[in-house]
Amino acid sequence: MANAVISATAETILKMKDHYKKDLVEKVPQGGVFSAKINGCTITAYKSGKVLFQGANGEAESSKWGTAAPAKPKSPKTKTSGMALPENISDLSLIGSDEVGTGDYFGPITVVSAYVERSQIPLLKELGVKDSKNLSDPQIIEIAKKLLKFIPYSLLTLPNKKYNQWQKKGMTQGKIKAVLHNHAIQNLLEKIEPTVPEAILIDQFTEANTYYKHIQGQKRIIRDRVYFSTKGESIHIAVAAASILARYAFLKAMDSLSEKAGFIIPKGAGPIVDKAAAKLIQSKGEAALEDFTKLHFANTQKAMKIVYKK
Ligand code: MG
Repeated sequence: MANAVISATAETILKMKDHYKKDLVEKVPQGGVFSAKINGCTITAYKSGKVLFQGANGEAESSKWGTAAPAKPKSPKTKTSGMALPENISDLSLIGSDEVGTGDYFGPITVVSAYVERSQIPLLKELGVKDSKNLSDPQIIEIAKKLLKFIPYSLLTLPNKKYNQWQKKGMTQGKIKAVLHNHAIQNLLEKIEPTVPEAILIDQFTEANTYYKHIQGQKRIIRDRVYFSTKGESIHIAVAAASILARYAFLKAMDSLSEKAGFIIPKGAGPIVDKAAAKLIQSKGEAALEDFTKLHFANTQKAMKIVYKK
């Protein structure tokens, strides 16, 4: 069997109906526009635009009309690496860990591990805790201030100067993140002692194996009950809380960089950022980039071009 499905416009479907007019069958399924039977293939077009080609010649017949419909997104949408997640993970007392600032030319990387007990989960939901990417900066600030009052957490901020030193030593961003996460989790475990979390969930930025390779040689390596998943904030609210606190710390760091620079330092790594970096070079000299930016980003060269073309 070589069944095929394509997506077609209403216009194409009408053309198809005309093309198969001699082979149309009377019975059309619910939601269908037409059905036709030809040698080795049954064709069914739906109002949704999907057209099914069933039978041995299905694929060949469908290729007359277009390409296959894009595959449905894989389910589940999250990717887990290392140990499989416990089934009830979203209900556990858990440390979530997430980072911010890795894609921003200006400003530090901030990593936060946050501990949320089972009993606090409804309250966090009530406060509007969700992935920081879906919250505005004022919302982040408002929620973060509330969280800071009752959630045990550990925040690590890697200032740009140190980031640049580490990067020049050959540390990749992946390694830098791994070292910071491991360290933040360790700090938090000590902070909440004698309480032991039921699980630790790191918002996955690399495969578990690579993560542990990165932190080889660290004084203490936290491995027990550590899980990795992409979209960690949708798995456990502690990761969302960590992402909010990390974002809050990042915003505050950007504010103090803006104050130091004497103008607003933009986020991200786009053309506005190039211009701001050029402005910084002009007012404070190239050396200032060391304390403000992630030097190895392409923005450095772009800013230099802006400065020296003038
Ligand atoms: Mg993340």
